Amino acid sequence: MPDKAIFLDRDDTIIEDTGYINSAEQVKLVPAVAQALVELRKMGYKLIVISNQSGIARGLITEQALAQIHERLKQLLAEQNAYLDRIYYCPYHPDGAIQKYRKDSDWRKPKPGMLLAASKEMQIDLRNSWMIGNDYRDVAAGKAADCRTILIKSHTKPPVKKPTDPDPDFEVINLREAVNVVKRELTRKPVSQQSAPPPTIQAESPQQTAPEVKPEQPPVQQMPEDKIQIEQPQAVETSNPPEITANKTEQLLEDIKLLLKSHHRNAQFSEFSAMKLVAGILQVLVAFCLVVAIWYKLSPTGKDDAVFTAIGFAMVFQLIALTLYVMHKDL
Ligand SMILES: [Mg+2]
Repeated sequence: MPDKAIFLDRDDTIIEDTGYINSAEQVKLVPAVAQALVELRKMGYKLIVISNQSGIARGLITEQALAQIHERLKQLLAEQNAYLDRIYYCPYHPDGAIQKYRKDSDWRKPKPGMLLAASKEMQIDLRNSWMIGNDYRDVAAGKAADCRTILIKSHTKPPVKKPTDPDPDFEVINLREAVNVVKRELTRKPVSQQSAPPPTIQAESPQQTAPEVKPEQPPVQQMPEDKIQIEQPQAVETSNPPEITANKTEQLLEDIKLLLKSHHRNAQFSEFSAMKLVAGILQVLVAFCLVVAIWYKLSPTGKDDAVFTAIGFAMVFQLIALTLYVMHKDL
């Protein structure tokens, strides 16, 4: 039975992008990314990095330095019990300065070569897998490989969309939210669609591209076997693409739910008002006046005038309080 995978872009998805990272010291994990990867693995996904590294073709970094960067990445993740299954990268670029790497490659995103190679080498069911990244070329590569796609749309570095770029299945603000999307989709996919036939691209693309891609494949970094912790997929797992309409309906219902909650909170808050506060204080004064009236009445030296005055004040305060209550209700 083929595995399912989460294909992950590297820069600004797993590690913070500071331009061309060319040394291990520059590797810094995106906040909370390790926990997100742990959760994705618990859901039964293999975790595979898919990264364009044209810096190699441009002469900005060597493959050896890149290997050290990826070792550092794995080390930082392992410190938080998170592990990657493989890292695929494309060192090529058609305008590269290094002759060896100067060419157009099927591996370079937005082309899906790396995903197709991973599917073939690691027996990945692409239709049951996701591509997550912060750029539309990640989305394009995922779509071309027939994966579902999630675009991480950061406010600080929003991706630029070209007219030809495909829309992602989902947009999120970080990997944490992407995990929630994947989790939600796992539990809501209808069972009736589990036996949907595989798409044409999955059957044909690896075979078509393999003769060209295979000789070009750069070294693949793989985690040691003993570090790979793969759990079985959940029983509710299916192999279907998302139903876009159903997704929108689900999202709409979620929005309505949040709106109702918000209104409920506002209603609770509006229960409090200055009028009610003053009315409450007046009620306390009414009680005080009545106590004073009783005290004067029971006192041997008490005077009836004082009693009537206290009761009079109590009545006036009570009247004002009632007026305030009525006015508040009418507002
Ligand atoms: Mg990126």
